[in-house]
Amino acid sequence: MLEAFQSSVKNIAKHVNDGSQKVDDVAEFYMKRVQTLGKKLNSHLFFDEKIIESEVERVKNLLKTQKNLPLAGVPVSLKDNLCTKGMPTTCGSKILENYIPPYDAEVVRRLKDAGALIFGKLNMDEFAMGSSNENSAYGPVKNPWDLSRVPGGSSGGSAAVVAADLAPCSLGSDTGGSIRQPAALCGVVGLKPTYGRVSRYGLVAYGSSLDQVGPFTRSVADSALLLQVLAGWDRRDSTSRNDAEIKSFDALNGQRKLKIGYVKEFDSDQLNPEIKAAMSQALEVYKSQGCEIVELSLPNIGYSIPTYYVVATAEASANLARFDGVRYGHRSTHHTTLNELYEASRSEGFGKEVKQRIMLGTFALSSGYYDAYYGSALRTREMIRQDFAKAFAKVDVIASPTSPTTAFKIGEKSNDPMSMYLSDIYTIATNLAGIPGISIPCGFDKAGLPMGLQLMSAAWNDQTLLDCALMYEEKTRGNGGWNEQNKPNLS
Ligand code: GLN
Repeated sequence: MLEAFQSSVKNIAKHVNDGSQKVDDVAEFYMKRVQTLGKKLNSHLFFDEKIIESEVERVKNLLKTQKNLPLAGVPVSLKDNLCTKGMPTTCGSKILENYIPPYDAEVVRRLKDAGALIFGKLNMDEFAMGSSNENSAYGPVKNPWDLSRVPGGSSGGSAAVVAADLAPCSLGSDTGGSIRQPAALCGVVGLKPTYGRVSRYGLVAYGSSLDQVGPFTRSVADSALLLQVLAGWDRRDSTSRNDAEIKSFDALNGQRKLKIGYVKEFDSDQLNPEIKAAMSQALEVYKSQGCEIVELSLPNIGYSIPTYYVVATAEASANLARFDGVRYGHRSTHHTTLNELYEASRSEGFGKEVKQRIMLGTFALSSGYYDAYYGSALRTREMIRQDFAKAFAKVDVIASPTSPTTAFKIGEKSNDPMSMYLSDIYTIATNLAGIPGISIPCGFDKAGLPMGLQLMSAAWNDQTLLDCALMYEEKTRGNGGWNEQNKPNLS
């Protein structure tokens, strides 16, 4: 019997594989939860019973010929910037309102092969630009721990559904923190793998040199299992890498005596004191397990936000040029010439934040300013990368808060872009450096809102990251995000 908050990805797959759990029952159970709670959270942009039924049939057929599928019968919900054949993919934007891709993203193909049920498409900030989900053209997602608060962004729907158990896991994308920050604000585990670990084919591009797909789960073990399924070379993404040498990410070891770095520059006035205290406690947990804590400096880390907002917007301005009203999505009727068609379609289709970013990026790339803005940003990016390389010569993992605050009120920061951009102050540098990062739950503040601990490691050391995360989770079970006593109450 399935019960809310009791099932892990691993367990569902195990019981479906050994025949003790029927795929139909798993689908039915989660379908009911989406139908009763999805509206409250505004988490889903697309959910169709008929499609879920055909997913169930597909998986049942697969199970006839294949044994031990890693995600047998596991519902996985997807951020709506992952292309799904035959299902709308809007990116949270009006401009793609009626877009149905003719193909699956590589990660979707991998999930399907692993026996997963593709379980609806999730709300997000428009084109993944935002930290609160308030930039969605379809209204904000609500945080399951407090419906008057944001779930974080841009993968807010992906974090919220896992926190509220409308699915045991989901996928999101992370360009500057969009997996880790919402994971922290919703009290779940969010992993951004090393850049190149997971194929971006079929992920609608935002900042192509920064984007990476990753899982949301309620445990580290489930995160590792999902990564195992998602990771690997894909000929259609030239930045993806062959992981053949890695047998299994989910053979975890939570006992390693790792060296853990603490970055002194991260200690700022912006950091909520309760999160700061939780951080120090987390470091004590590691110390008590025999890990060594080392104070480090990342001298150029202060340039992360300005560097990111030049690189990401420059890439976005190029990537979003394809939405012109001719090939995809919304086409304006208010035009007489081709140029007017482009202009009117884009003006009507894109939201305010997206337009702002396109303008910023186009300016940064414009002739005469290119070197001053884009060129400098590339140089500072390299300096940040080198800071991390030096740090990882001394330590295995760097620990930091994931977000400087817990979930804020809907509307609280929407007119203050600078304060919104600062939500990613701890997460953005990993994308610039291409290294992996994970956010794991590390308790609750006095208001009962979840807090997140971020761990980062050198590129391609995702395994070390997961081992380190597991150690903390094993030692603090019951104090982290979801547990039997403490779970969001949505009834
Ligand atoms: N909040 C950041 C932005 O708006 C990061 C978003 C993301 O990671 N997709 O760009």
